[in-house]
Amino acid sequence: MVSGRKSLEFWYYARLATASLPANFLPALFPGDPTMQVINEILAKCIVEHEKDCLKSADELLGLVDQAIAFLRSPGLRPSAGAPWLCQVCCKGHYMPQGPPIQVEQPSAARAKFRVHVCDNVDCHRVELFWKDPARS
Ligand SMILES: [Zn+2]
Repeated sequence: MVSGRKSLEFWYYARLATASLPANFLPALFPGDPTMQVINEILAKCIVEHEKDCLKSADELLGLVDQAIAFLRSPGLRPSAGAPWLCQVCCKGHYMPQGPPIQVEQPSAARAKFRVHVCDNVDCHRVELFWKDPARS
């Protein structure tokens, strides 16, 4: 339905295109559209081959849908790892990680490290810094 097709073959929502079969994977069908990754994350928990991999209740699905709606109403929020992250300033570019973390000296504390992400839109280049928790490195 989201892709514009009438039906989905079995549980193959994540299939990439092959020589004889079209892609079903929404992020591949709509590259650069972060909403497709959000939809795909819901599909991954609803369209499954094995029952054990499926959500257990409509309440669980409602929770996922509510989270997706909140995310989609707030462009620029960081999606799950690996998904394109839309710039919250220009809403055109995507944040790209830049090299190793940078270190900042603090007079009364240990060095702080930050991960740097820069918007790839040449008219924007917004920078986002994220503290790198030393306990998690
Ligand atoms: Zn930007």
